[in-house]
Amino acid sequence: MEFEIPKDAKVIGVQLPDGLKPKAMEISEKLKSMGYEVLISGESCFGACDIDLNLLKIVDVILHFAHTPILNIKGVVYVPYRVDYDINRVVEVVKSNIREKKLALISTAQYCHKLRDLKELLEANGYEVELKKGSRRVVYPGQVLGCNYTALRNSKSNTVLFIGDGLFHAIGASVYTGKDVYALNPLSLEITRVETSGFLKERYKLISKCVGLERVGFVVSSKPGQNRLRLAKVLIDKAERAGFIADIVYLNDLTPEKLYNLPYEFYVNTACPRISYDDYKNYEKPIITPQEFEILIGEREGYAIDEIE
Ligand code: SF4
Repeated sequence: MEFEIPKDAKVIGVQLPDGLKPKAMEISEKLKSMGYEVLISGESCFGACDIDLNLLKIVDVILHFAHTPILNIKGVVYVPYRVDYDINRVVEVVKSNIREKKLALISTAQYCHKLRDLKELLEANGYEVELKKGSRRVVYPGQVLGCNYTALRNSKSNTVLFIGDGLFHAIGASVYTGKDVYALNPLSLEITRVETSGFLKERYKLISKCVGLERVGFVVSSKPGQNRLRLAKVLIDKAERAGFIADIVYLNDLTPEKLYNLPYEFYVNTACPRISYDDYKNYEKPIITPQEFEILIGEREGYAIDEIE
């Protein structure tokens, strides 16, 4: 076991990301058979930024599954979740698809445990592999988050290899570095060379929708690992100097419904960047990132991905 429940704990809260929520009963039964009282969190659990602080008030400890620690919060124990995969098969796919020999290796938490072995195997096959740890927000070498690509900061490789599912992190890595990025799913062994022009076109289209608007809401989340109130205040200052009428909209989970009746014409999201990138189509009004707002007011040239350090 790579986690320890404090000896004096009697009441345990369990926080699971959506993908693991179906296992809630199984986990609860196991803990109950060990003599604990269990409360399952029904709240969102998008990352380690998203700790159920209300539940924490009434339990002795929260077991937070599948994310690596971002914050050191008393009473929260992080439970790793690792997905097994065959690095030999991954290397075969790389050999057949990637000619470039200098690769930077990145992944998400559940696949990071095999990156060191994968690096060695790739090197044995003639690749030069960079595997670097990013800022304090990430734990493992090569680990990236939807809001943090610092593992690629100052990368000397020409090409990035992302091991994991979906294209979100790979697109983020490509925008962050401006380099070629391949996304390789280690289970299906599907490999994709990511294309960012569609992503950037959409983002600039959204920024252009904000041109000429006057009332802007700066969204701040109260979630402990997403709270960027200080940044929002800096941006409010810039907005007011640029002639906008601006307010901070403070909330926990950002959802389209919460913004329905507010009078703002567009929003700048300082909460999880994935909401701006993944969910923007669900919002009635344009919702842009802090960096996109700086482009809008002419303070920034060139696109930059939104990151939380
Ligand atoms: Fe993940 Fe968003 Fe939290 Fe970053 S802020 S850890 S991308 S849920």
